[in-house]
Amino acid sequence: MAKTIIKYSAGVLLLLISIIVVRTLSFSPQPVAAVEPVALTVDVEKVSQHLSAAIQFQTISYDNSARRNKSRFVEFTQWVGQTYPQLQQLELTPVNELTLLYRWKGKDSQRAAMLLSAHYDVVPVTPGTEKLWQHSPFSGAIADGYVWGRGAMDDKGAAVAMLEAISLLLQQGYQPPHDVYLALTHDEEIGSKEGAAAVTALLQQREVKLAWSLDEGSFVLREMVPGVTADIASINVAEKGFLNLQLTVQSPGGHSSMPPAETAVSILARALTRLTDQQVPGGIDGLTADFYDQLGPHMALLQRMLLANRWLFGALLEHELSKMPTANAMLRTTTAPTMLTGSIKANVLPQQATAIVNFRLHPRDSVDAILAHATTVINDPRVELNVLQGMAASKVASKDADGFRRISNAAQSTYAVPGAQHAPLVVVSGLTIGGTDSRFYEEVAGASYRFNPMVLTSAELGGFHGNNERISQDNLVKAVQFYYSLLSAL
Ligand SMILES: [Zn+2]
Repeated sequence: MAKTIIKYSAGVLLLLISIIVVRTLSFSPQPVAAVEPVALTVDVEKVSQHLSAAIQFQTISYDNSARRNKSRFVEFTQWVGQTYPQLQQLELTPVNELTLLYRWKGKDSQRAAMLLSAHYDVVPVTPGTEKLWQHSPFSGAIADGYVWGRGAMDDKGAAVAMLEAISLLLQQGYQPPHDVYLALTHDEEIGSKEGAAAVTALLQQREVKLAWSLDEGSFVLREMVPGVTADIASINVAEKGFLNLQLTVQSPGGHSSMPPAETAVSILARALTRLTDQQVPGGIDGLTADFYDQLGPHMALLQRMLLANRWLFGALLEHELSKMPTANAMLRTTTAPTMLTGSIKANVLPQQATAIVNFRLHPRDSVDAILAHATTVINDPRVELNVLQGMAASKVASKDADGFRRISNAAQSTYAVPGAQHAPLVVVSGLTIGGTDSRFYEEVAGASYRFNPMVLTSAELGGFHGNNERISQDNLVKAVQFYYSLLSAL
């Protein structure tokens, strides 16, 4: 009997190992044919000078939009017209005083159009951090192979690259097969209410149908994903929504020398730890599964084995991925308590304590679902919950559609190496974990994609909304080549 069991177990184990090995081996990269590099020589000095000039306009978006220095924005739009005179061939619709929408009439305007978009507003430089910048944040310094300053990567670099590429194509007498729109928006950093929202409303009013739109949202990631050595072009097909949830606890107050067992602060604190301890359930499904299916074959053997055998290692994988903030953000709706108030004085019991928790909504979760989750997890009627602001995640655009393929092709030819046997980039469809203008465009576009064609390394990542934001001149050239390639191949 024991012999039979041992035999049987050994057989099952062998079968299991065979399945794991076969699945791992078949989970290998599909060869992607090499592509021709973009045939365009870019005047790197000229483009760098243009971006430098663009950075010097302090087009800063403050949370309180009344603080906006409108003249800097107007000056920027005037500079666009002066620097790129070829744009006069396009129809310019000032959506409002500060957001520009150009229409490039194609050979057949009946066909569905496309939209390129970039925002030219930037976040402020945190007071007191100016000294930490190697070059003053609005100097637009060109040094050490970089153009330095606030907005270089987010998102004036893309705006300038789009303008350069379109100007070059206009100079060459190119006309796209269908209409192409270019939007330069001015309030992305504070919610896009006047910019992208107004562009969308105008397009709707004119009954313009967009086949697809392309805006910021991800990059060519270099050495950013552990276990992957290749450059990854993450063309993001969706973006997360958000929910700002306010938690309020009332209590009688009084002198802190005779405290009750619980104060408003301790009740609130328990609610917050419950929320962070019991994260919103997530998982490798939907677009997250797509992401790992595309990326997995390029990973090191161990990760590849785990990802190829999610039927067995799914729970382990999710557990490990949840420990990494960037990977965790792709798996689930995240929970971040951000603001707190309590008593006004150290020896006064609080009559009220409040907290704000910022959730970033995965496409699978609605605002209502997260509110229900919070209510269940906190499980304390003394904690009152109020939705301050909330917005569901975007739709998920198809990764098998025409727009995605075109963006992918343009990225491959931009990074193509002459004579190479394989395509230079691993292309994946990803999820943008912040908000972009695209959340509005998807109302008029069949699909909205989020991608900037520049290489991003962890060294440059810190510049986003942080110190020493900069873009390499190499990246700037690549970006011009990408938009040129994308548009000329329409
Ligand atoms: Zn941005």
